[in-house]
Amino acid sequence: MNKLKRNLLAVIILLLAFGLAVGQTNTDAPVKVTFLHVNDVYQFMPVEGGKRGGLARLLTLKKEVLKENPNVLFTLGGDTLSPSVETRTYKGAQMIDAWNAIGLDFSVFGNHEFDLKTTELLKRIKESKFTWLGANIVDTNTGKIFAGTPEFVIKEFDGVKIGILGVILPEAKETSSMDDTLKVTDYCLTANLIVSRLRRVEKVDAVVGLTHLFMAQDKKLAQCADFDLILGGHEHTLLQSSSNGTPIFKVTADAREMGKFTLNFDRTTKKLQSMDWELIPVTDEIPDAPEFAVIVDKYKDLLEKLSEPVGRTSVTLDALSLSNRTKETNIGNFIADAYRDAAGADIGFVNGGSIRADLIYSPGVLTKRDVISMLPFNNPIVKIELDGKTLLEVLEHSVARSAEDNEPGRFPQVSGMKFTFDTSKPAGNRIVEAFVGGKRLVEEAKYSFATSDFLVSRGGDGYSMLSKGKVLIGAENARKDSEVFEQKIRKAPDSTISPRLEGRIKRIN
Ligand SMILES: [Zn+2]
Repeated sequence: MNKLKRNLLAVIILLLAFGLAVGQTNTDAPVKVTFLHVNDVYQFMPVEGGKRGGLARLLTLKKEVLKENPNVLFTLGGDTLSPSVETRTYKGAQMIDAWNAIGLDFSVFGNHEFDLKTTELLKRIKESKFTWLGANIVDTNTGKIFAGTPEFVIKEFDGVKIGILGVILPEAKETSSMDDTLKVTDYCLTANLIVSRLRRVEKVDAVVGLTHLFMAQDKKLAQCADFDLILGGHEHTLLQSSSNGTPIFKVTADAREMGKFTLNFDRTTKKLQSMDWELIPVTDEIPDAPEFAVIVDKYKDLLEKLSEPVGRTSVTLDALSLSNRTKETNIGNFIADAYRDAAGADIGFVNGGSIRADLIYSPGVLTKRDVISMLPFNNPIVKIELDGKTLLEVLEHSVARSAEDNEPGRFPQVSGMKFTFDTSKPAGNRIVEAFVGGKRLVEEAKYSFATSDFLVSRGGDGYSMLSKGKVLIGAENARKDSEVFEQKIRKAPDSTISPRLEGRIKRIN
């Protein structure tokens, strides 16, 4: 053996010894499996003026986690295909493109997935490179799970088997346009059967629930089936709980933060020994993953149009559905003013249910997206003449569900008038007093009234009495709601608005 060969042999022996040493450490080290989780993500671009969220940043975070540990699963806790301004054009296909680019592994169906027509939703499922879960959505025609969705999946990492299943809240049926042929079955019973099978028959080493439920339901779920971890969604609130020893997590919405959950298994026994978790804020300090640029590019035209600034707000705007359907709000006042100004009427009147977005807008820039998110329906703003008696009828109708319903869509936001109502009185008798232009409402007087044509010609939200009004500006000559809203923002001094609560609506009881 010459010197060169001897040296080579020495190197090989050294390498073998080193390899063995590395192998030795690996035998002791736990098998780590990391779940990266987000929920309720309606747009792939960042939110809050670019400060938070953004799927290009999520991809960067995922790539970093992959460097520490190749055993990574990316999960979504449902609600992504709707509602959004983009979905009006692309029917959720834009989100599927984005999730495919991220390399999402699993998503549970959220209630909002069923805002889409079933035929559209089935197309989206087909386009998905990830697996949808939702074991308790049953097609009553076949008795099988909706869209051929698997009851559960099993992923194996270094011999460790993890079972994953998804369930959805029963309320999904009433709060979406889910087909009559679909049924949401009991999530507890469903999970109990599947988890038992995963543990006893499939011999998995851990079970993870991917859910779209209210937290109280998640807690109940943890009582009726033996989960190691539940990753949820639906509330849009950062929630961390434990029930029956099972940790339950959900993050806010639109990927403002990402949950990172690492399950540590004994390499020999495969037993789950411990869990680590961390909530990572997704901020503008995280660079975009360059691979995501193709997605942004594909939807560039619409995104650019939507991101066009129309003005600013110097105050926080309350566009929450609950607020706009129960009390006077600053944005409700502003929109009602916009209707009244645009039509040149005595009164501007907005049904709270037509103010959408369901968001709080912090002071800052307002974009076209914000305007359309708040008023998405493109309703013409018509002007009619009402006598005082009918106006009182309108007001009584507007608060007739305020004691009975959590969020009555008919609840009004008003301009040019004030009123007080008492929810302890019977419906139809709740208006205590009302003023128009600072003067007490007179039943014989005539008032001009600007509102959405949806209420006038279609009797929307039950406002059938509005059809009695004499039409002064009809739908064919009327301007659209989002257009008059946008114009009022642009026309404000420095295009900056600062609407306030002014005591236009007072509630007793
Ligand atoms: Zn939901």
